[in-house]
Formats: sequence, structure tokens, C-alpha cells
Amino acid sequence: AQETKAHVALLVSPGMGHLIPFLELAHRLVHHHNLHATLFVVCSGTSAAESLLLQKSSAVNVVPLRPSVSLDPNANFIDKLKAIMSASPSLLRRSLSTAKPRPAALIVDLFGTWALAIAHELGMLGFVFMTTSAWFLSLARFFPTMDKQMINDHVYNHEPLRIPGCSPVRFENTTQVLENGVYDDFELMARELGTADGILSNTWQDLEPTNIKALTEIETLTFGKAEGVPIYPIGPLTRHAEPNLESEVLKWLDRQPDESVIYVSFGSGGTLSEEQIKELAWGLELSQQRFVWVIRPPVDTDSSGTFFTAGNESRDHKWPPEYLPEGFVNRTKEVGLLVPMWGPQAEILSHRSVRGFLTHTGWNSSLESIVNGVAMVTWPLYAEQKMNAAELTEEVGVGVRVSRGLVSRGEIESKVRKIMAEEDEEGRRIRERVKALKRSGERAAAKGGSSYNSLAKVAAECDIFRRQTQLRMAA
Ligand code: UDP
Repeated sequence: AQETKAHVALLVSPGMGHLIPFLELAHRLVHHHNLHATLFVVCSGTSAAESLLLQKSSAVNVVPLRPSVSLDPNANFIDKLKAIMSASPSLLRRSLSTAKPRPAALIVDLFGTWALAIAHELGMLGFVFMTTSAWFLSLARFFPTMDKQMINDHVYNHEPLRIPGCSPVRFENTTQVLENGVYDDFELMARELGTADGILSNTWQDLEPTNIKALTEIETLTFGKAEGVPIYPIGPLTRHAEPNLESEVLKWLDRQPDESVIYVSFGSGGTLSEEQIKELAWGLELSQQRFVWVIRPPVDTDSSGTFFTAGNESRDHKWPPEYLPEGFVNRTKEVGLLVPMWGPQAEILSHRSVRGFLTHTGWNSSLESIVNGVAMVTWPLYAEQKMNAAELTEEVGVGVRVSRGLVSRGEIESKVRKIMAEEDEEGRRIRERVKALKRSGERAAAKGGSSYNSLAKVAAECDIFRRQTQLRMAA
């Protein structure tokens, strides 16, 4: 019997910040756009939360791919990601060639752009879903056409990097791929990105009007009609909160007044030094605000210290943690809640008692904050987070940013108050702005909205491609 729905395969690299939006994308393709979806998840084999999430996704066929690879424990997270992904092509090729019904398209992330060639070779469409901002996507998209001298001036002489049609990237905000001076891999991914049949971006018109314009208009001017890649802004695409009556943190939030709590978390990977954790604890205490803090043991040498182990919640370590200032837990027990390692973030941010989010500005966390109308104190750590923090505070206007280096307790106290306090004028403007964006994000993602329609176009392309393939095979 002929299939009546297109089947789309998705390939996602390790890490909760990739898995969560890919799972959500797969669900929307199934539930809103009437497609079949299979999500191939490249597993690093270490994350308990990954497996928890996967169990819950019944409408999407989830297939783990476990490449055999030994990782250099001292490598940074980007090098580890690359090592895992580069061990996956044969597994993917086998899985795609035997998948039933035959997939019409493969959707990959930035670390899976090599797989576009496999999709094309197997007669499928190949899309990339970028789980970052349109600003970062513009950097990736235009990177191969940029003047080498300008790139080197940025990397080595710390000059701003000019992205066509977008704000320049000041070196202090640069991404980790350029910071280290080794950008050959990034350049290769960026070139492969240009071979996609379309690029999906987790953003929407009102959030990033200038960057989306650059991507859609300058894209065609730069690459010409034939080489330009269609850009599909499909965001905000974030995980929906699920009712969880058992969760201690949600029960605690239920007991707090409306908009009185600041939520503190550094994403799946973020870790701080012991000295910084102590300052943060003091800053929160001095701010006299209620808080929920997802707390992890210090890592002095790597700010992405739990990227591959996120969700391995271990309560074995000493509680209360000895790295906190003496007496902190006792003094703040009426106003603060510490959550070890991992918390139900979507549920926390959507709780009526949460007003602010002290965040590492991973793009998913940033969007989750905006869709819940929660203002931010931005504290970027690694990857492209400094670009995100700059954009959120300087262009979008939904947060304030902490300074670089060791952030003092006094600064933490005042920035937290700015976002939380009723009487702070700047804080009030920021809170109004984030609430307006929340509404515009809802309109974009709702049926008939710009992002909904954009994803509908991708789904339609897949369906047309399926029909054409069927006709060709029947002929
Ligand atoms: N997350 C969570 N609980 C935590 C930490 C993170 O549910 O304690 C989720 C968060 O909601 C987000 C994702 O993990 O969806 C992290 O993605 P993001 O892009 O913010 O940052 P990354 O972890 O990739 O740096």
C-alpha cells in the first residue's frame, strides 16, 4: 500500500540543549502537520535525563544510535561532540536505508551537517534545524564568504566581526568556535550548511527582525537565487510544561506569592568555580529575594563541566554542600530552595510565582524564559552564549547582564534586585518588554501564525517530495 503521509527522519547530536528542541520539533511535525517522524538520537551514553525524556515520547519513533568511540576526557565539549558525531555516519546510513516507510527528508543539527550528503545520496531532502539564534545562524551562514583577513583580525587582534546585515560581534562576545582560533571545523560545517534544502531556525520575526531580514534578503544577494538556501523561522519552539504534582520544587513554588521568585540555573552543562559559587550564594542572600537554585558541585577549570552528564542526578554528595558559605542554607531556608543537579525547568519557568531567571543564556533557556514572560539576569558561560546575552540585553531588551570574570556578590545582589524589584524603572521596562514578546511568540507559533506557517511549508515540501518519489518509482 502506498504511504499517505510523509516520513521525516531527524538526527540529533548529544546534549539536552539539542535533544529538547528536536523532540519538540518532531512532535509538532506529527501533531500539527500530519507527518510521521523518527528521531535518531546520537547518545553519549552518560545522560540519565536523556533517557527519561525519550521514554515519554510515544508519538515519535525514537531510535538511539550508539557509536563506539573513546573520548579524550580533557577535550572541550565541542571536540567531544565532533568526535562522537564523526563516528556515526555508517550507523546513520544503515538506519536510513532500512527505515520504513522510506523517509522523504532528514533534518539535522549543526553538528550533523555531514549527514546532508548521505540524505541527498539516498534520495531524500536534507534540512538543518539550528537550535540557536538567527544572529548565530547568520554568522554560520555567511562565514564562508567573509574576508579571511577580517576573520583573523577578529580571532587574533580582537577586532569586531562584521556579519552582513547584522550587528557586528565584538570579540568579548565571540563564540567558542572562534575564541580558540581553530575555526576550520566551523567553516566546514558552515559550507555544508549551504548544501541544505532549507534551514529551520528557532526564532520568530518580532524577536530578531534585523537578523531574519539579513538571512532572508542578504542570503539571496550574497549567494544568488540558485545557491540561496530558504530560511524558515519556526520558533519559539520550547518544551511544554507538564503537570507534575510530585515535584518538591513545584510544591515549594505553590507556597510562594505571585512573581516573587528568581530561578537560578546554568543549563545542562554550566558549572562555576567554588569561589564563584560562594559569591553567588552571598549575592542571592543579600538580594533578599526568594530563589530556586539548581546547584552543582564546583568545577574550577571548565564552565561546561556537566554537558555530557546532565541529568545524572546523584544525591550521594554531601548535603548541604560544603562548598556553600557557612550557614547559608540555614539562613536562607525560609526564602530559598536548592535543587541538586537538575530541575524541571519548563515547569519552574511557567510557574506563576517566578518573575526572574538568572541564566547562562543557552538559546533554549532564553526562549523558555521569554515564552513565560520571565525577565533575565544573563550570565553567559561557553559556546555562543555571550552572543546570546549581548543580543538579549542590548537589542531585545529582556534582561541585564553581569560583568565578565569573577562576578562579585554586590553586583549579583544589585542585578537580581533590578529584575525583581517593583520600584526599579529599568527592571519594569524589561519586564514589560518580555511580556510583550511572550504574546508575540504565542501569535507566531499558533495556527496561522508566521512560525506555524513556516513549518507548514517545510512539511508541505516533504509531502510533495514523497509524492514525486512515489510517482517516479511507479513509472
Ligand atoms: N534544563 C532542564 N533542567 C535543568 C537544566 C536544563 O530542564 O536543570 C533544560 C532547559 O530547560 C533547556 C535545556 O535543558 O531546555 C538546556 O538548553 P540550553 O540551550 O538552555 O543550554 P545548554 O544546556 O545547551 O547549554
